[in-house]
Amino acid sequence: MPATASLRHLLPDLPPGAVTRFAPSPTGLLHLGHAHAALFAAGLAEAAGGRFLLRLEDIDATRCRPEFAAAIETDLAWLGLAWERPVRVQSRHMPAYRAALGRLAARGLVYPCFCTRGDIQREIAAAGHAPHLAPSGPDGPLYPGTCRRLVPAEREARIAAGAPHALRLDMAAALAAAPADLSFHELGEGRLRCDPAQSGDAVLARKEVPASYHLCVTHDDALQGVTLVTRGVDLKPATHLHRLLQALLGWPEPAYAHHGLITGPDGRRLAKRDRAPTLRALREAGHGAAEVRRLAGW
Ligand code: GLU
Repeated sequence: MPATASLRHLLPDLPPGAVTRFAPSPTGLLHLGHAHAALFAAGLAEAAGGRFLLRLEDIDATRCRPEFAAAIETDLAWLGLAWERPVRVQSRHMPAYRAALGRLAARGLVYPCFCTRGDIQREIAAAGHAPHLAPSGPDGPLYPGTCRRLVPAEREARIAAGAPHALRLDMAAALAAAPADLSFHELGEGRLRCDPAQSGDAVLARKEVPASYHLCVTHDDALQGVTLVTRGVDLKPATHLHRLLQALLGWPEPAYAHHGLITGPDGRRLAKRDRAPTLRALREAGHGAAEVRRLAGW
């Protein structure tokens, strides 16, 4: 269960008028962990005299469904939250993400990657690493750089032949193009130094989706004028890469507040796959919104 959350210790550090957002992916019904995240974001905006936004991170059409998007708004309204409209729906803005990728590509900071998961595992094994000991970053094992070493003619031939490919950030080139002293402001902790290299050559556009979480989240936080990014502490390591993307693309730097994760009775983080009780199920079982806010840690 949650440690009862409090925003009090963050208040002295809160940017006045902070603009926050809750940015779920509509891949299922919301559970208590989502309620905790949404209430955290909305609570900080309210305390700052700021604004609270909602964004649907639905670029993965194979996992996201419109009925879950509708259910998110129903559940949040039932919890007593109000957000500014319009809601940003990422799947409607793919050309904007493509344009941002194009800017990085024009500076030689991304390259096409044709590898399958299997190719990457084989390459890691060939480099002499046992899978569990291979160098790893926030998104899993670090990409060994196979396709970074392809010569341009080979890349062009494979693309011309229609080979599916992702786009990866050339981390070494990106670091060389960005200020060396990147950091971020974590509320209550002060300035933390960034180490974006821990993400390796991160995927910025996937094979099946021509964008990725890292690209879309930084793009949209800038576009929507989000000045305080709130999210679970599980995403804190991604912030290092996000600050790098912001620096490369000339986007403003928000402050960050990463909250703890609600755990189930077994002490493990709540997740859909654990059949965490959904807000809808709690509501249908007769629990009131105030009670569910309390269950969500508030
Ligand atoms: N869409 C992400 C999620 O569902 C949250 C992204 C963020 O807040 O940066 O976990």
